[in-house]
Amino acid sequence: MTTPIFRFAPSPNGPLHLGHALSALWNQHLAEQLGGVCLLRIEDIDQLRCKPEFIDAAMEDLRWIGFHWPEPVMRQSTRFQCYREALGKLEAQGLIYPCFCTRKMLGWSDAQRQRDPDGTPLYDGRCKALSMDVRAKRIANGEPHALRLDMAKAVRQIGADLTFEEGQPEQPNAMIVASPQDWGDAVVARKEFPTSYHLAVVVDDAAQGITHVVRGIDLFRATDVHVLLQRLLGLPTPHYFHHALVLDEGGEKLSKSRRSTGLAALRAIGFSPSDIHNMLERHEVP
Ligand code: GLU
Repeated sequence: MTTPIFRFAPSPNGPLHLGHALSALWNQHLAEQLGGVCLLRIEDIDQLRCKPEFIDAAMEDLRWIGFHWPEPVMRQSTRFQCYREALGKLEAQGLIYPCFCTRKMLGWSDAQRQRDPDGTPLYDGRCKALSMDVRAKRIANGEPHALRLDMAKAVRQIGADLTFEEGQPEQPNAMIVASPQDWGDAVVARKEFPTSYHLAVVVDDAAQGITHVVRGIDLFRATDVHVLLQRLLGLPTPHYFHHALVLDEGGEKLSKSRRSTGLAALRAIGFSPSDIHNMLERHEVP
């Protein structure tokens, strides 16, 4: 039997909060229970928002709550070449196209628009209609562009083989059929850097041999895109478990900007690691 490998994969674009602590500790707990390991991966592809000081602070917070990890720690910012290779595989299958649209053109202010499952406005595919000539000219002119996955074509290519296993490991689990067709043409490379969250996470879960992905329920629908990308790139699909989120008293997801739930802020006012563990058991937010 292969050793179960879990990972906690924060994006260092702000201080860690109670929600991150819950996810890290869930991963560590399940890894221990299954006799596996839990890795730490730093998801810092967005070089504009991710800062080295947030990485140091995240590691300090994680050590404080008793989360430990083996070295070396994978940093996504060192792996752009691997993401380029994955993009090459998608390109060779004729599944990606350049998108020159700006946020403004995409009508982000229009509340009525159809949405992707993650709440962003559904892309209407307008750049898919551009001729090869026009694409080549605009790229040659240095016009900034993202790369999008032609979702309909990708889904047609893969067919019905989109199931994944969801639930707490070692408990009765559900087989879910991913629904990538509910998404518009997802971005696989952003304008500012040659990958996207969806692409990098799939490439790295496979590169690290991750067998179990344990993360917040807010990423449940992203799994639609992840399973599709795994099939297209010939990568294995791990077991998924999406856990409940820690919510604030208004029922909202915690944010990195809300100081009161930041682990460092709680430490500074005298909370101990066991206070944090107790709060998480009850999902209590101060
Ligand atoms: N880096 C992502 C985040 O901080 C998590 C990615 C994942 O677990 O798939 O929200």
